[in-house]
Amino acid sequence: MQIPIYNPKPQYEALRGELERTATELLASGAYILGPQVEAFEHAVAEYLGCRHAIGVNSGTDALLIALAAAGVGPGDEVVTSPFTFYASAEVINLIGATPRFADIDPDTFNVTAETLEAACSARTKALLPVHIFGQGADMAAVNALARRRGLYVIEDNAQAFGARQGGRRLGALGDLGAHSFYPTKNLGGFGDGGMITTDDDELAARCRLLRLHGQEGRDCHTRIGYNSRLDAMQAALLHVKLPYVDGWNAQRKEIAALYDHRLADVPGLSTPQVAPHGDHIYHQYTVRIGDGRRDAVRDALQAAGIGCMVYYAVPLHHQPVYQQHLQDRCPAAERACQEVLSLPMWPYMGEERAERVAEAVHRSLAG
Ligand SMILES: *Cc1c(COP(=O)(O)O)cnc(C)c1O
Repeated sequence: MQIPIYNPKPQYEALRGELERTATELLASGAYILGPQVEAFEHAVAEYLGCRHAIGVNSGTDALLIALAAAGVGPGDEVVTSPFTFYASAEVINLIGATPRFADIDPDTFNVTAETLEAACSARTKALLPVHIFGQGADMAAVNALARRRGLYVIEDNAQAFGARQGGRRLGALGDLGAHSFYPTKNLGGFGDGGMITTDDDELAARCRLLRLHGQEGRDCHTRIGYNSRLDAMQAALLHVKLPYVDGWNAQRKEIAALYDHRLADVPGLSTPQVAPHGDHIYHQYTVRIGDGRRDAVRDALQAAGIGCMVYYAVPLHHQPVYQQHLQDRCPAAERACQEVLSLPMWPYMGEERAERVAEAVHRSLAG
């Protein structure tokens, strides 16, 4: 039996009737971009996350890009983010004409902290872009306090933590702007690309709406240089069907994580994920650490046994060829994590039996 690292199909099968009905109605409607389906989904997401505004866009990458543009970030500015993330988190900072600065991570949670962010700030810093990595948030009370003290915007990269709570609220609703991704493998995954920007600020929300649609204020009236970043009605309608189930799916992920935690607790040389006291973890990835240079051998053994696993992330962003000028940046915890991390299979409906088999295979791969 092969066990993939992720499998979106059981979610589709669980909701098949409703999804297919919704898709068929949408096909027949003749209205395929923005419109009432997107507005209804935006309202549902705003209510779910507990914020005033939600603006649907093309992808999580565009959500970050447009959030930065709405905050007025541009040439000459610096934005501080994590080096231990998907490339898009930093790429958007360059796309907007600003410069990324990299803050090291906390080795226990893989997240940036207020301390590491502050150490990477300069007089040019305009915004902080914490990435809530693997389904667990950076400490947003501390990050927001730093931002207030230094007069900075906070843009949360919530691509991997949709639905996670912190202090009674949801991630993505805690900074000035939140950027969410509905890429098919994310905790709320669509049937193609999709993203969302959230904010409580009326002015920022209005700018995001303008920017996603060619800076178009009204018919024949363009007041900004914008983007073509509209959310498809099909994605919005199908995601709206899935949204009420995301808390249950995240709870299933936590159950699988608890089983892994238990079964892997006594594996020598391996450490299981740590959950910080400031919020919950919804396990977008279940990521262990394997020291002593043995990580790659474990990965190869699991793959040979038909068990999907991936190294997120193998290279810290400050060592990417495109960021040669950052090679001297000091991010030793991120560099070490890249040598040691391994993400194991994690998906709703995966079930205990598969998780047990994964844990057994991990044991075997590290025995002797
Ligand atoms: C997936 C992801 C993105 C980009 O989202 P897309 O919808 O794929 O554009 C950005 N940041 C992080 C941390 C991600 O995991």
